[in-house]
Amino acid sequence: MQLDALAIDESVSALFPPERLLDALRDSPVETTVIDGSTDPVVDCDAVVTFQYRERFLDVEWIHSVLAGVDRFPRDRLREEGVVLTNSTGIHGDAIGETVAGYVLSFARRLHEHAANQRRNRWSQPAWDEAWTVAGERACVVGLGSLGRGIVDRLTGLGLDVDGVRRTPVPEPGVGRVYTPSELERAVSDAKFVALAVPLTDETRGLIDGDVLAAMREDAYLLNVARGDVVDQDALVTALEEGTIAGAALDVFETEPLPESSPLWEMDEVILTPHAGSITRDYYRNVADVVREGVRRIRAGSDPVNRVL
Ligand code: NDP
Repeated sequence: MQLDALAIDESVSALFPPERLLDALRDSPVETTVIDGSTDPVVDCDAVVTFQYRERFLDVEWIHSVLAGVDRFPRDRLREEGVVLTNSTGIHGDAIGETVAGYVLSFARRLHEHAANQRRNRWSQPAWDEAWTVAGERACVVGLGSLGRGIVDRLTGLGLDVDGVRRTPVPEPGVGRVYTPSELERAVSDAKFVALAVPLTDETRGLIDGDVLAAMREDAYLLNVARGDVVDQDALVTALEEGTIAGAALDVFETEPLPESSPLWEMDEVILTPHAGSITRDYYRNVADVVREGVRRIRAGSDPVNRVL
């Protein structure tokens, strides 16, 4: 592949100012520019770094997604056109791991409740049996890739016992027992926290349905930092309303932004974060590292890192 000019699509501003990435890539051997969201073809650029997919990117040879998930990209179409697609998997483990640790500590130490009371100038201590500590509790992490790794490290650091679920039944450091997807209900049945860290695929769409929720403990919390469609959201709302699980922390939703009419907004034992679990002020630097390495490899005639197509 000929790679002399790289474009940064302005849609990356959903995560960081495009100029920051431009600046971080100034030592790159390829000419780099910021382009706007116009419908014109991507003139004189061989590759584009983007948050959003646009039809006109079919003209370039390489698209790099600043997200880990590529579920929004038309993969069949790109494959037909011979466009190389890469993602940013591998850069989110620390931020997501800390976000999940925050959810866990919030539920145990009742921090979300104290924050809600503070908004109302209300001094209200929890009842004697409401607050707890997490060491010795069990968690199940569904998906043991880069996100799962970040979550496992934080939760084991807090003293939790962690099991996991992945397609390939190979051991993972820090994970007591690794289950396969067919054993999902058994895997979640003993966990106080079930954290979701799988990509959205045909196999994982609706993975957490009414049956899996019913298999969870009544005092368990579902933590979703993967994609909204991995969970049957209606079934989750029912489980929360009927108290068949204790609560949930959700960073991702079937529809984003979450509609104001969603009953999830009003639930006391639900923490909602606006797809913010991986946001950090270092995001552009982390993307720059992946892009720089991709450029280096392509110009050396080999495959870029994180190649999806
Ligand atoms: P990775 O590819 O590194 O890891 C994916 C993991 O999921 C692997 O362990 C894989 O198994 C496992 N997996 C895949 N399919 C299944 C299945 N059917 N059942 C059980 N496990 C399965 O991806 P990342 O960890 O980097 O990211 C995962 C997803 O998280 C992304 O695709 C994205 O959608 C989402 N994400 C969300 C963010 C946010 O801001 N909330 C930020 C970043 C990512 P195996 O190990 O066997 O291959």
